[in-house]
Amino acid sequence: MFCSLSRLYRGLSRPTRRTTQLIWSSFSRSLVLSSQRRIPELSSFVARTNTCGELRSSHLGQEVTLCGWIQYRRQNIFLVLRDFHGLVQVIIPQDESAASVKKILCEAPMESVVQVSGTVISRPPGQENPKMPTGEIEIKVKTAKLLNSCKKLPFEIKDFVKKTEALRLRYRYLDLRGVQMQYNLRLRSQMVMKMREYLCNLHGFVDIETPTLFKRTPGGAKEFVIPSREPGKFYSLPQSPQQFKQLLMVGGLDRYFQVARCYRDEGSRPDRQPEFTQIDIEMSFVEQTGIQSLIEGLLQYSWPSDRDPVVVPFPSMTFAEALASYGTDKPDTRFGMKIVDISDMFRNTEVGFLQDALSKPQGTIKAICIPEGEKYLKRKDIESIRKFAADHFNQEVLPIFLKTNNNWNSPVAKFIMEEQGLGLIRLLETQEEDVVLLTAGEHKKACSLLGKLRLECADLLEARGVVLRDPALFSFLWVVDFPLFFPKEENPEELETAHHPFTAPHPSDIHHLYTEPQKVRSQHYDLVLNGSEIGGGSIRIHDAELQHYILATVLKEDVKLLSHLLQALDYGAPPHGGIAIGLDRLMCLVTGAPSIRDVIAFPKSFQGHDLMSNAPDSIPPEELKPYHIQVSWPTDSETKRVH
Ligand code: ASP
Repeated sequence: MFCSLSRLYRGLSRPTRRTTQLIWSSFSRSLVLSSQRRIPELSSFVARTNTCGELRSSHLGQEVTLCGWIQYRRQNIFLVLRDFHGLVQVIIPQDESAASVKKILCEAPMESVVQVSGTVISRPPGQENPKMPTGEIEIKVKTAKLLNSCKKLPFEIKDFVKKTEALRLRYRYLDLRGVQMQYNLRLRSQMVMKMREYLCNLHGFVDIETPTLFKRTPGGAKEFVIPSREPGKFYSLPQSPQQFKQLLMVGGLDRYFQVARCYRDEGSRPDRQPEFTQIDIEMSFVEQTGIQSLIEGLLQYSWPSDRDPVVVPFPSMTFAEALASYGTDKPDTRFGMKIVDISDMFRNTEVGFLQDALSKPQGTIKAICIPEGEKYLKRKDIESIRKFAADHFNQEVLPIFLKTNNNWNSPVAKFIMEEQGLGLIRLLETQEEDVVLLTAGEHKKACSLLGKLRLECADLLEARGVVLRDPALFSFLWVVDFPLFFPKEENPEELETAHHPFTAPHPSDIHHLYTEPQKVRSQHYDLVLNGSEIGGGSIRIHDAELQHYILATVLKEDVKLLSHLLQALDYGAPPHGGIAIGLDRLMCLVTGAPSIRDVIAFPKSFQGHDLMSNAPDSIPPEELKPYHIQVSWPTDSETKRVH
């Protein structure tokens, strides 16, 4: 319940009828702005003279031919025609001589696709529609052709009509007709075009395609497997073009980029898709600051012109600082409520669980302050916060309400000494009606918990009308100085890479690598936007011996799987580094879409299915034979676990 609430309130709501109009106008405007050098020819090569959305008073008197879908019809007199560019009003002729035109336009069901020819005339005085970009004119039709009729639709093609996501995905081709989807996909295309322009034309990058049939690679995400006709041999779909882009640097390509499709078989998560797109980049002879400046310039250049401009350079924060102050490696820096370490304040506490925590190695006491929490958080919110902490982190959370005259109201209020109370007020900068959430335990665990609660409380406050995060604000942040390795969750004695095994150690920590590898920081950097990780990269290891040592000795990986890369590094590999930007997540944030599925034309459902075509689908056993594979059907109980 606690988590689903928050999901509900993250992101922006679907557009309403009013926003639909605004989107049409802002989209037409951005089309023009983004193509200052050349206005695109929208009606070349086709059976229309103009688009529905482009007609204005300046077209008065022109004979035009339009093609579009019937959006509305009123009293068999007006018809509103829609295409990707907008809406236009068409006057259905009423005179006898045009009876056949009238019949076509009055009888065609909604969403039928028609072609009309006629004259652009001005609307009678007082009948202009200022909300419609074409609202000053209408079309006096002379001829009409029904290009194709539309059957009864599973839902109306109007963004304000509510429909489930399953229905939208099942009829995705109809869902795509909606204004918001059109806007999202077209803005995506424009931004990618600007990115290409920036990378290839302004900075000499080479757009190179890399294979999608590849082989299993060690570490990282789970890969999809593709059977081959050789018995027992499989391809894998690459989780990213990482190895290829490094090999391109060995090949002297110097500056590579690709709009790359990547595949990860990682199960469902709200902001993940089994196949997704990265703006993938690699450069030779570069350092971290070079990559960071490149990306700042790229985003600045490709940013939609109707938003506040991107301000560079982006601020930067170390991983350690992000964890300590925000409890996560992807802090949402649009609002405060930072985590504060109050351990010193409570060294002499009489509260049992706080004493307990402080007596342990790494034991700390941490707190966050929810401004005006008393006013906005209900008792049941506090209860669900405490339950969440207990269920997911096995941690206690103490709520403390600050009353007038600095009085405390909390289950442990009587144990909080005056100087502790005053210290809390000073450290957390609390004010009347604030609520402090306090927890105790090991540093990382306490921070992670408070980091989650910080976001949950922000969602709750916003759901109750407090404006904490300005939806027009884009807050970019570099997170740097990650550890090179993390202890594995299932076996903390073993190490795994924080980014991927090709990431170079931080030059000032390299001496620890052979003795205390867990202390080594890396040359890995993540780009965070409004609390989402939208990119990550690193300076790579270009020394074969070092790469071999990390793979074999530290990570205990099978180096044979990477012998081609190790060999390549030995043949004069240049120093190199790169980054990948998650295009779907970036577009989701730029458009304010509730889910990354809203910026992908044909996404998979939450369960990884294509609801339109029903993929993945079964294959008859005889078609599996050439691949030497057989399905071992799960038992009933196993099937239930899968679904
Ligand atoms: N291949 C990396 C990833 O997909 C990005 C990089 O290091 O360039 O996360």
